[in-house]
Amino acid sequence: EQPAPLPTHTRVLTISNQKGGVGKTTTTVNLAAALAQSGARVLVIDLDPQGNASTALGAEHREETPSVYDVILGDKAMKDVVQKSSEFDSLYCVPATIHLAGAEIELVSLVAREQRLRRALDTYLAGTEEPFHYVFIDCPPSLGLLTINAFVAAREVLIPIQCEYYALEGLSQLLKNIQLIEQHLNPDLRVSTILLTMFDSRTNLAQEVANEVREHFPRQTLNSVIPRSVRISEAPSYGQSVIEYDESSTGALAYLEAAAEIGHRGTRWEGTTDGS
Ligand code: ADP
Ligand code: MG
Repeated sequence: EQPAPLPTHTRVLTISNQKGGVGKTTTTVNLAAALAQSGARVLVIDLDPQGNASTALGAEHREETPSVYDVILGDKAMKDVVQKSSEFDSLYCVPATIHLAGAEIELVSLVAREQRLRRALDTYLAGTEEPFHYVFIDCPPSLGLLTINAFVAAREVLIPIQCEYYALEGLSQLLKNIQLIEQHLNPDLRVSTILLTMFDSRTNLAQEVANEVREHFPRQTLNSVIPRSVRISEAPSYGQSVIEYDESSTGALAYLEAAAEIGHRGTRWEGTTDGS
């Protein structure tokens, strides 16, 4: 297959699903690494207080490390907290620290509380010497103000769906919220991409979930599916993406394929939040 072309404008995708453990962080880190490996300049913004994306990218995120918290709640510029990943020269991370755990509440009383990430990111992107091709924002498993900040900062939403029981539970709530954001805060926001994760081809259930998702979201759902893979789950404890940890594993190949598909689709494709 042809390598995917690099986008001419920065594509900002937020990886969201209010359920925990569906593969948001894993997808963020591995798609980012896959695109960086194919030559794209990629920024990952860790917006989850757990800081799992920071860990997986080998970014420092101790309590005193300047982080996304200082950007959203304080007066630090994004350029002063961004770190280069150890893995790829073109892969960068804005880390999250434990301070972010209080951010949902601290944000409530702030002016323009929904716009703070957007403003910081726009300023950063406008000031970088070399433009970024992709920005991925890893969201916490909730629909609070941090996730709203991510929806306002992004143009595209990527929803990872775990091929298990109750996969679609809560999805309509998520789509409703995205529609509200689109109506009131960010008219450009689209659910551009749905990625099936932790697919186990041995079970009928996984196939049924996949079919159901494709029926509801025929255009958004990627052809590539991420299999359940031990290599994928091992990689973060080495501070690596699965692309670096074991490039020839089925998990790495699946994320490379999904990344290429996202690249080939480009930004021309316009989804809508109701799946039509
Ligand atoms: P979320 O960010 O949505 O909470 P994670 O990406 O942290 O979800 O994934 C939850 C757990 O599942 C993690 O332990 C992760 O290593 C594991 N995991 C994610 N994707 C896969 C996969 N394709 N195969 C096996 N384990 C996976
Ligand atoms: Mg996560």
